[in-house]
Amino acid sequence: MIVTDSEKTISALCSDWRAEGLSVGLVPTMGALHRGHLSLVKTAVASVDRVVVSIFVNPTQFAAGEDLDRYPRTLQQDCEQVKKAGACAVFTPDTVTVYPEGFSSEVRVSGITEGLCGAYRPGHFDGVSTVCAVLFGIVKPEVAVFGMKDAQQLAVIRRMVSDLRMGVDIVAAPIVREADGLAMSSRNRYLSVEERGQAVLINTGLEKAVSLCRGGEKNCAVLKEAFLQTVSNASKLRVQYAEIVDPDTLLQVETAEKTVLLAVAVFAGKTRLIDNVLIRPEV
Ligand code: AMP
Repeated sequence: MIVTDSEKTISALCSDWRAEGLSVGLVPTMGALHRGHLSLVKTAVASVDRVVVSIFVNPTQFAAGEDLDRYPRTLQQDCEQVKKAGACAVFTPDTVTVYPEGFSSEVRVSGITEGLCGAYRPGHFDGVSTVCAVLFGIVKPEVAVFGMKDAQQLAVIRRMVSDLRMGVDIVAAPIVREADGLAMSSRNRYLSVEERGQAVLINTGLEKAVSLCRGGEKNCAVLKEAFLQTVSNASKLRVQYAEIVDPDTLLQVETAEKTVLLAVAVFAGKTRLIDNVLIRPEV
């Protein structure tokens, strides 16, 4: 497996593969990899011939006061893990490589970036869509794999790729959870023991909404309330938002007639955790 921070090296490698008739897949990450990321790599390995994992803590998707400076960096361990998962290359550009002097472009997807996380993280999705456009331009993958954990990010990237005819097939991979249900996240390591203990209620609340809906409840206000009730007594948890939306448009939905997305952001102490679940009503 090749590890490189050079744009020239990775793009030459990918174009050599393409010249040999091999398909290329990309898994964009910010590192501090866990089983969630590795499942994305495995999904990519199953669908293309050569998989590139990018590891880049993208400064433009962090707002002032967020955790850019202390974001965990575990490069050596990350490389060992993705190698085992079957990746062929790891691209670890620095900021100047991604945004060289004179870089003046920004990809902004409107509409679906405005609600959910977009309402609380100004500029975040502009940073995400721009860095993904740059990475797609360097690697030119046929396929890129994203996790459903970041449901809004997935919808934004799908919109961008479709609008700009980027020709990348976006594949969604399911959320990987800890044994007790907490969605895996690079940020879980920030949690104190008490916060970690209470954070499990996020998934419990999501599952409560799912089972209510299975029992026939279709009123989204009631489903949302089931989530809020579950986390309300946890002293370390503070809900930033809990919304039930259409999974593609991310517009709010009042009745769960078809599959809807319950998306939440919850602070556990100072750590902001996001999670979501697709709720499929019984037909
Ligand atoms: P990040 O490194 O947090 O930017 O995430 C990189 C990719 O991994 C994104 O597509 C995320 O949605 C995905 N990802 C992060 N956590 C999980 C998880 N628990 N399960 C599945 N995918 C995940």
